[in-house]
Amino acid sequence: MYTISLNFIATSKLNVEGQIDAVNSLLGAWRMNGQVLNNHFPTAKTEAGYSVYVNVPESDSISDEFQNKYVKKFTDELLSNGLSKPEVIILGKEPECADSCSCVDSEFYILFTTYVMLESPLRCGKCFGTVPLYRIPKSYEEEYYNIICWQSDYKSCDSLQMNCTVGERFATNQMSSIETPLSSKGLEVCEFISSKTDMPVYYYLYKGPGKSYKNEAMRKCPKCNGAWLQSEPLHEIFDFMCSKCKLLSNIAWSMR
Ligand SMILES: [Zn+2]
Ligand SMILES: [Zn+2]
Repeated sequence: MYTISLNFIATSKLNVEGQIDAVNSLLGAWRMNGQVLNNHFPTAKTEAGYSVYVNVPESDSISDEFQNKYVKKFTDELLSNGLSKPEVIILGKEPECADSCSCVDSEFYILFTTYVMLESPLRCGKCFGTVPLYRIPKSYEEEYYNIICWQSDYKSCDSLQMNCTVGERFATNQMSSIETPLSSKGLEVCEFISSKTDMPVYYYLYKGPGKSYKNEAMRKCPKCNGAWLQSEPLHEIFDFMCSKCKLLSNIAWSMR
């Protein structure tokens, strides 16, 4: 993941409100196309126009090669509102985020995020690197709305769970049980990505507290009730993996 600055140069000062709307619309379109991450874009009014700082999956994520019809439409609207196409300045690699996957032989994907992660929620099962969404076939209307929406809901639940003050039990249950609306949406997203990419996509079920290590190790797959404990945790997180149901989980974090 990289941090870049986008400089929009004003070629006219006629319509400041229209210019800001045009920039925001383009940022939203990039986000729904997986070209820009997160939903908070620090923006500065500069002498020349506007500067916006964003995180992107790869150094060339903003390239026209990945654009969809909305990115194209809102880029055109910049021009009609007296703004240039943005100048892209790559500030550098984001130092704490996972790298993008460059495997040529990935065998499966994992849908995974946490309250702090800004990266794409699609992970390579082999290297656990992130997979920019624009690298997989688009979903509805040339965007990745279903994946980004699930990611946002999951991060909200994980924040409630971490803060331990409001809705902790609700949020933990949403992330831990296979039958909750959050997991149902996540499983739908996994099936959707799998149908588009011909790759198995695993869904992760969070486990926070547990009774004992022994009890935890005896847990079975919540869908098929089969054995799913691995001899070594996959990517140091996933102690449980059911290849039949495409589910992952961990030994309760309180017992590890
Ligand atoms: Zn990989
Ligand atoms: Zn199973």
